[in-house]
Amino acid sequence: MTLLLDDVTLTYPDGDGRLTALDSVRLEVPAGCLAAVVGPSGSGKSSLLAVAATLVTPDRGRVIVAGTDTGTLDRAGKAALRRERIGIVFQQPNLLPSLSAVEQLQVMAHLSGVRPKAVRARAMGLLDAVGLADLAARRPHQLSGGQRQRVNIARALMNEPSVLLVDEPTSALDHERGAAVVELLASLTRERRTATVLVTHDRAHVAGVEMTVQVHDGRVTERTAGV
Ligand code: ADP
Ligand code: MG
Repeated sequence: MTLLLDDVTLTYPDGDGRLTALDSVRLEVPAGCLAAVVGPSGSGKSSLLAVAATLVTPDRGRVIVAGTDTGTLDRAGKAALRRERIGIVFQQPNLLPSLSAVEQLQVMAHLSGVRPKAVRARAMGLLDAVGLADLAARRPHQLSGGQRQRVNIARALMNEPSVLLVDEPTSALDHERGAAVVELLASLTRERRTATVLVTHDRAHVAGVEMTVQVHDGRVTERTAGV
């Protein structure tokens, strides 16, 4: 199992008490599978991703990423695991304004010391995979919202992650472009064998997705297929 959240509970301080953001959540995502997490605003979707990304430590439960129990890692160990194994796509692309599309991808790998020529080839291959090979030289302001989100997704794949975590990538897009982004994520998941978690508040986008998990008030209330 490439990603496993086992009985995860997460609380945040809330006045004199605690707010339960995740309540005994279990989620198993094998390699090559896309799991869609759906639920209303405030239901715990981003918290679930933050825990899976090892950015937040749960009060209780285990988070296993590519065979590593993240509870055994210190801060540096978690940072290394994120760099090597986890691709994260946030809601807002956060691209660097002065860099071209291909450079956005290249800077990711420069951090981990791979040869520049190989890095560029890999970046171009990924831009091609997301349908942007022709726009590799464009800066963010020369791209549409949907194209920026595609650069964002390609960037998250630069270090060949085992786990891909995507938070509401379609929220700023119209329905058609949103559906195209979900379709792209599904095919990248199959091709690159990532365990992908896609968070969305829009059920319509994930009608064809193999595994959906509904969350409500921090609890999984419904799941289709998968485990
Ligand atoms: P969603 O992504 O589904 O909108 P979140 O995971 O962001 O839900 O939030 C779940 C609950 O946890 C909400 O009630 C939210 O207000 C609360 N919450 C999220 N992040 C924090 C935080 N850093 N500190 C305190 N409460 C938080
Ligand atoms: Mg959220």
